[in-house]
Amino acid sequence: MIKLTNISKSFGRNQVLNRINLKVDKGEVVAILGPSGSGKTTLLRCINYLEKPNDGEISIDDFSVNCRRPAKKDIHALRQKTAMVFQNYNLFRHKTALENVMEGLVIVKRLSKEEARKKSVELLEKVGLGNKLDSYPSQLSGGQQQRVGIARALALNPEVILFDEPTSALDPELVGEVLSVIRKIAKEGITMIIVTHEMGFAQDVASHVVFMDQGFIVEEGPPKVIFQAPKEERTKQFLARIT
Ligand code: ADP
Repeated sequence: MIKLTNISKSFGRNQVLNRINLKVDKGEVVAILGPSGSGKTTLLRCINYLEKPNDGEISIDDFSVNCRRPAKKDIHALRQKTAMVFQNYNLFRHKTALENVMEGLVIVKRLSKEEARKKSVELLEKVGLGNKLDSYPSQLSGGQQQRVGIARALALNPEVILFDEPTSALDPELVGEVLSVIRKIAKEGITMIIVTHEMGFAQDVASHVVFMDQGFIVEEGPPKVIFQAPKEERTKQFLARIT
């Protein structure tokens, strides 16, 4: 369903992604692991063109973007098919939880306010925030803000949700509530790509694990194989350090 072909990206002279190839099937949960600076976030951001790759092709369903000659309408189509959950939540500070979720439904999906409100309430209930509809981000904990971020992503009904280290800004005691919401939606069969440092979570939620280092995919496969029997020395070293 999602296919990245030879995606390359540099910032100035710093080549951050080197001809990355990746296929993700519908309903898969892909965890991207690797040391800091290996290009994980950049890769995720390239998938919806928050970063513009220098080369390669991105396909989702029947849409393709040729990164050398991207057409505006294709980039737009790509963005319509993806939703991003950010490290720092990126909520509108002056809008309530409910308004944050409604925004995309009214502006992007062109639902009426009534419909948008109904759907947003349902989604906030789903992430356990049915009692926080009218709270502003400043009145919510980090974990609650991130759950609003997840509800907002779900509202767009995307083909794939891209999670960029969704728990890394959270105090340790708040990580669990966010991971359990992600676990719950993973079970519903939504395609997800997650950059994470939570190894235990990756191990039990991911259907496919990708290990990156220095802008390359070093190794990928089912979590059992990557965690218990990695083939590549770099993967072994990384896992030995982190677990
Ligand atoms: P990871 O997510 O694995 O920690 P990143 O994708 O954030 O890695 O970063 C990979 C490399 O790209 C790093 O060397 C980082 O400094 C560089 N980089 C990321 N974003 C930018 C940017 N906007 N401008 C310049 N360099 C960047």
